[in-house]
Amino acid sequence: MFIAAAVLLTLQELELHQIVVSKTYAPGALDCRGAEFHQAGPLQVDMVAELVGSEIRIRGHLGTRLKASCARCLGPVELPVERDFDLFYRPLRTIAREEEVEVPEDELEVGFYSGDGIALADVVSEQVILSVPMKVICQPDCLGLCPTCGADRNREACRCPASREDSPFATLKGG
Ligand SMILES: [Zn+2]
Ligand SMILES: [Zn+2]
Repeated sequence: MFIAAAVLLTLQELELHQIVVSKTYAPGALDCRGAEFHQAGPLQVDMVAELVGSEIRIRGHLGTRLKASCARCLGPVELPVERDFDLFYRPLRTIAREEEVEVPEDELEVGFYSGDGIALADVVSEQVILSVPMKVICQPDCLGLCPTCGADRNREACRCPASREDSPFATLKGG
């Protein structure tokens, strides 16, 4: 076992021993490629990388807090993230040679690496992106913004006729 300060998981090193990483990323330290959220707190990642045949297996856990905007009302949404991962990365050249790629039936996720290793930050930012739901909403019954006047219908009932009909409160208020 080896505690790595380095952020590159190289084959050269993995051939010798497992790499154990415990690392904290400050907000903004990870490149999340224009994703529609930002890191609101430090990100802690604890993981072990090892070589299994020609595959690099990375297991671990990450935790952080993200901030995003509600898809309906654009209000801020806090997203606590606690994610376990167990990932396999195959060398890219193997795929070129073999027609069939057997992906294990269970929960394991398979990715690919090229060159002589994997940058830890790439693995972590990918996992963060995957932890965010496709559509972030502040609450399941968020009413969103009125498409006509732009009012936040969670806070105020606007006077647009269409939005009053749409609103689940229309019947309550209409009487
Ligand atoms: Zn909302
Ligand atoms: Zn309106």
